[in-house]
Amino acid sequence: MINQLHHIYHAKKRFGQHFLHDQYIINAIINAIYPQYWQVMLEIGPGLGALTEKIEPLVNRLTVIEIDRDLTLHLKNNSRLKQKINIFNQDALIFDFSDFSKKQGQLLRIFGNLPYNISTPLIFYIFSHINAIHDMHFMLQEEVANRLLANPGNKNYGRLSVMSQYYCQIFPVISVPANALTPTPKVNSTVVRLTPIRAITQSPNRIHALHRITKAAFNQRRKKISNSLQYLISVDELIKMNISPDLRAENISVLQYCQLADWLTKHC
Ligand code: SAM
Repeated sequence: MINQLHHIYHAKKRFGQHFLHDQYIINAIINAIYPQYWQVMLEIGPGLGALTEKIEPLVNRLTVIEIDRDLTLHLKNNSRLKQKINIFNQDALIFDFSDFSKKQGQLLRIFGNLPYNISTPLIFYIFSHINAIHDMHFMLQEEVANRLLANPGNKNYGRLSVMSQYYCQIFPVISVPANALTPTPKVNSTVVRLTPIRAITQSPNRIHALHRITKAAFNQRRKKISNSLQYLISVDELIKMNISPDLRAENISVLQYCQLADWLTKHC
């Protein structure tokens, strides 16, 4: 059914639509998510329902957020799905995940083959609702997944790595070749699992400072931090914190960024 629909439905580029059709990959993603009957499963961008249809029999309730009105109508008319799914026809970038979790009385298990054009802002946005989340499984462009997973010293290590690893433990789960999707994208994808770290400090001041420091550092990633952070922290203070002023943004660990953010919170 899904396979046939790919040929009829004209994918909309502006919504980053690439539909999964490879049943082996779809099953592997469902196995990795491993939904339990009682859990609150929330899919971002169900599209034609490739993942949705496979998850539906495994759970008691299933909620989806889909921006494309044509696709929500299609899902509403799906005789099997319509018994169980709750559809929000809206932009996931403004969805109130915290409020939804509160109403459900449970933490959310979020998943989706994310639209490529908004995956990074969407991940940052979802972090602002981290307390509402049990875990996340996202299919991302390989390059974005590599940035999430990168360690200091790696060329992919950047703001997204620091902020993601601050909030979550992250594991690569499945590699997805481009030809598993219609229309075929230019790049391969990776499914990653993000599990929130419960013990982290979530004071708004610290998060704000972390954003400030990482922006300043990575906006000039080739420069030494004595330069890129000069308007925020003096060389003397860096040395007192045991952080060499000669380091570059990509050589500073998440823990060191937290140290810098805490200093900034206290002194600025
Ligand atoms: N899950 C389907 C699959 O794997 O075949 C479709 C994945 S496609 C890469 C991304 C989906 O996200 C599309 O259905 C698209 O319409 C939807 N989408 C794009 N932007 C969105 C947004 N801001 N909020 C919610 N859904 C969005």
